[in-house]
This record gives sequence, structure tokens and C-alpha cells, in this order.
Amino acid sequence: MSEHNGKLYIETVGCQMNMLDSELVVAALRKDGYELTNDPRAADTLLFNTCSVREHAEHKIYSSLGRLKYAKRKDPQKVIGVMGCMAQKDQDLIFERAPHVDIVVGTGQLAEIPRLIAETRTAEARQQQKAVSLGRRDGSVAEVSGSFQSYDPLRDPEMRPTPFQAFVRIMIGCDKFCTYCVVPATRGPEQSRKPSEILSEVRVLADQGVKEVCLLGQTVNSYKHTEDGRLHRLSDLMYQIDQVPGIERIRFVTSYPRDMTDDLLHAVRDLDKAVKYLHVPLQHGCNDQLRLMKRGYTVEEYREMMGRINETIPGCSVSSDFIVGFSGETEASHQLSLDAIREHRFKNSFIFKYSERGGTKAASLLPDDIPEDVKKRRNNEMLDLQNAISEEDNAEFIGRRVSVLVEGLSKSAVKQQARASAEDRSFSSGETLAVQLMGRSECDRIVVFDGNPRLSGTTAEIEVRDCTGTTLIGEIVTREVQHGSSSLLPIVS
Ligand code: SF4
Repeated sequence: MSEHNGKLYIETVGCQMNMLDSELVVAALRKDGYELTNDPRAADTLLFNTCSVREHAEHKIYSSLGRLKYAKRKDPQKVIGVMGCMAQKDQDLIFERAPHVDIVVGTGQLAEIPRLIAETRTAEARQQQKAVSLGRRDGSVAEVSGSFQSYDPLRDPEMRPTPFQAFVRIMIGCDKFCTYCVVPATRGPEQSRKPSEILSEVRVLADQGVKEVCLLGQTVNSYKHTEDGRLHRLSDLMYQIDQVPGIERIRFVTSYPRDMTDDLLHAVRDLDKAVKYLHVPLQHGCNDQLRLMKRGYTVEEYREMMGRINETIPGCSVSSDFIVGFSGETEASHQLSLDAIREHRFKNSFIFKYSERGGTKAASLLPDDIPEDVKKRRNNEMLDLQNAISEEDNAEFIGRRVSVLVEGLSKSAVKQQARASAEDRSFSSGETLAVQLMGRSECDRIVVFDGNPRLSGTTAEIEVRDCTGTTLIGEIVTREVQHGSSSLLPIVS
């Protein structure tokens, strides 16, 4: 092998699924002796884990790649790789737009990355390499499914959101084919992992100190797998994970409205370890728009589902995703989305301006006909309304006590720490002094409070004193070791 410094830089955009993929790839490369660096200039291996859900995310990656052109020319030994959804979608186009990229690896071929990097580095002459899965029409369902491998090796704890929280993939792919979405192409057919495999992964994580698992799937509540002659649904999996010693909280994202079955709601209600929070994207408040998006439900059906959630799990938080400015969206249909936010009072909503994606049904059949300034204005109206509702609902918590898994320093404490280290001052890292900490309540609300950083990973009881639209602000009442939770962008669903 040629001389190389073994420094690995990885840039990740997109959802929790991508965060997990990066974590697993880094863990595999660490076993090969690689060491992570945050400085792309210091690295001789650079990976970009990409997202294709929105155009902006792709532009960001192409600009990052563009900045490496001269670095690669100066040091041809650098290995540059693009992995993930954009790699699966664009394939050779990446080599055309960024000829200095060495490897392109789709979402279903991540296990190949260590080998491809090693081969690229040892090749006598430069050779670009690609490992991608079949397109949805390039073979039988079994062949296409087989070309998308779920990549879930056991990992070391270092790249997790926190040492006591872990993502666990329970399924890959999607068969819903919403007209605007690239995921069925980039992540392949829907495939659920064996429950026995998932359970052993959870047990290992619990042995490593993980207290909260977040089960991941593009439509996580569509999970089903028959093992030993028995059908396992997400609810069955939750009952099994509930029995794993050490695990204190179980959550799952992202749910698909039509698959929000009563057995699952009962599991969330009945299991103490289940976080009382559901992320169930509505996407639009107008039936015409939902039909054009081919979401597979109506606003009335979504309302019926919300009724069952509220009746079965009183106090359960629900968050949503919305698309604004989709093809043909009128002012009247936009008003219906605002009405839906008012009606369902989501804990929060992830609101996105429609971005046409090549290869989707919407791109080929529906005009992207809403001007950018209109999309922006509607987006802001949605955000303003959602923020006002979130703040009103958070205010209801003032004076109440919430149980919080302490995740670590709050964002402002992290910034303070960075400033202190830039100025070469020491920061009270928590021997005895209190700093601002953050965690999440059992209904997924972000809570900040002053405390000793050594509380991280434990459960604290916090009395809420104040709030903003995104955060509850409180004070510690007592502390006991119990439950937890996580953050990040939503998975598309
Ligand atoms: S939006 Fe969600 S449910 Fe629809 S195709 Fe994409 S991943 Fe599947």
C-alpha cells in the first residue's frame, strides 16, 4: 500500500439513515486503522455521504467536491469518495461533474467502501470505481432487492449522537412511490431486517451502555418480517426490545400515516419505555395535492388517524412534514395546509419548499409551476404559524415537571466552550460548576437547564420555568437514572 496518513474526513448531509450509514462506514474504516479528522485538508481519504431528497443538498455536495479539485491535483494520493443517495441516483454523472472523484458507492453497497478505498490507493494507474445497486426496473423484484444490502455491522460507540443513544436500522427502502420522492430509487425496495438480528444488535448496544434506541426506517411502521413461521410487526419488535435490560427508551422514525395501526398505538401506550412521540408526515392539507403527490391517504383519513392517536395515547406529541409549492398548489390549497397545522397542533413541523427531483414521476409529469418567491412566502407563513402554535403549547408546560434524558451541553454551552478554547481559556467542564445542559422530555421536547455535565446519560426531573417555540427552559428538581431521547433531521416519509 502507498504511504498514506490514515486520516479520514467524512461529510454527511440528510436524514438519520445517512447519519447511521456514516457511523457504520467510519467504524469499518477505523478497524482498518483510519482515524477521523474534522479538517478536510489534513485527510488523505475524504468521503461525502449524500442526500438527493432536495436539490439544495446536492448542490452543497457538488460545491464541496469542487473545492477539492486542486487538492487532488496537488496530491493525487488523496482518495475522494461519494456515497449514499446521490451516488446511487447520479452514478457516472458524478465522475463527469467532478472527475477528481475516485469512488462512487450507492446506499446498498456500503460494505464495499473499505475494499474500494484500498484498491484505489494501491492501483498502479488511477482508475475510478463504482459500486451501485440495480435500478428499480433493471431486474426482478428479488434481483433489485438483493442488490440493495442492508449494512448493519456491529460498531464501536464513538460516532453516535451520544454514547447512550443509538440508531438501529430495522428496514431499508420504500415501496410507496410518492410522486415527488427519489427514495424508492435511491434506497431500493422495502425490506425489513430479521427481528432476531435487530434484537441481538440492541443487546450489544445495551451492553455498551446505550439507554435509548431509535429504530429507523423510511416508513418504519410498515415493518414486517416473518421469522420462524411468525409475522413480526413493529409493535412485536417493541415488546421484544422492551425486555432488553439496560434499554430505557425506545423511539422510532419515520411513520407512514396509512400504516399507523392500533397494535402499534397500544404498544406506545402500554410500554413505559416507549417515547410518547410520533413523527407522521401529513405533507399537505389539500386532498388534490395529496392525490398528485400519490400519498395514499386523504386529509379525512389522516384526521381519523390523529383521533386514534389522541384517544389511545393522551398527551402524545406528533410532528409532521409539509411540502409547500408543489405542482398546482393554489392559495386555497395552501390555506388548507395552514388549517391542518391549526387543527392538529403539531409539536413541530419540518416544512420544505418543493424541489423537483430528476427521475421522479412528478418531474416527468407535473410542472414545477409555483414561482420561487411564492414558495418562499408560503413556507414562511407555515413556519410562523407552526412556531406560534409550538410556543403556545410549550407554555402549557410552565410550572410542570418533565423527566429528561440529559444528552450533554446545550448548543449555547457548546459555543461558549468553543469560544473559550479559541481564546485559550479553560472552560468549566463540569468538575463542580453548572453549565447549560440539554435533553429531551418523554414527549420529545427539547429542555435546557443548568447542571453538572456529569449528569449526561442520566434522567433528571426538571421543573419548567419558561419556554420558546422550540425549547422548554427549566431547573433541576431531583435526579435519578431512568430514561432518554435524540434529535436530527427527519427521514422522508
Ligand atoms: S416520501 Fe416517504 S413514503 Fe413517500 S416515497 Fe418517499 S420515503 Fe417513501
